[in-house]
Amino acid sequence: MSRYIQVVLLVGWLVTALNAETAELTYQPKQCFMCERWNKPMEPFQIACNTYYVGPAGLSSILITSDAGHILIDGGLPQSAAVIDANISKLGFDIKDVRLIVNSHTHFDHAGGIADLQKLSQATVAVSAASAEALINGGPTDDDPQFAFGRRANSFPVVHNMQIVDDGEELRVGPIRITAHLTPGHTPGGTSWSWQSCESGRCFDMVYADSLNPVSAPEFRFTDADNQRVSINTFRHSIETIRELSCDILLSPHPGYFDMQGKMKLKHEGNIDAFVDAGACRRYADSALQQLERRIAQESE
Ligand SMILES: [Zn+2]
Repeated sequence: MSRYIQVVLLVGWLVTALNAETAELTYQPKQCFMCERWNKPMEPFQIACNTYYVGPAGLSSILITSDAGHILIDGGLPQSAAVIDANISKLGFDIKDVRLIVNSHTHFDHAGGIADLQKLSQATVAVSAASAEALINGGPTDDDPQFAFGRRANSFPVVHNMQIVDDGEELRVGPIRITAHLTPGHTPGGTSWSWQSCESGRCFDMVYADSLNPVSAPEFRFTDADNQRVSINTFRHSIETIRELSCDILLSPHPGYFDMQGKMKLKHEGNIDAFVDAGACRRYADSALQQLERRIAQESE
């Protein structure tokens, strides 16, 4: 970890510790073209065993529960924190029992709610070193493909007090073990997560695969050799990481990426294994690779 990050993390921790008792929520609704549709409240539901969907309709947020505390993946928009908190309560759980919050990538639609969710829960936030730089900054770092959309468009509430995770590192909350897989490309710090959910003697390998699309601000080029943390080779490596994960159930930051609506329909029709799809991670990787190849071709035109 760089000295800069260590110092900033320490200062951040002190500020958070001093404010913990009197913390005011920083909730400031983000305005964007899709924000209202993304943040539409929806009923939380069980995906499999101890894994639940607690996000609003268009931005995933996943709760993994145990008697010794819970893990929350992603926080949606700043205004999603209230939706997620309400959904956790609706399921009969308490946000104060969330011990760990992790993030896929540091864009405002997945990291925007983390600051307030951390205040509500007092949970540890664990992210990659590159994601920590963005969270401390309250917006993407200057090598993020979407950086040039500008501060006003990109910003989100600053997060302090983070734990840095490395590639392959396993984190534990009670009996839950969750593994970080660094999958940079869409952002420099992009991270995918895997864990196992078991019930009545059946276990599923769960994967929360980060966004792997090469979406960028107009001037950005993934083929530019200067873009080291989001180079073509890094991107390809991230895609192969997802392809090779043991994967019974795929989840990802936008519900459309894993056909949540289609799977919910099957579930309502009585298919208890509606979300089980052993080929889903492979197809997700195939689709990401096609998008990346198209992008490379466009950049070399
Ligand atoms: Zn994004």
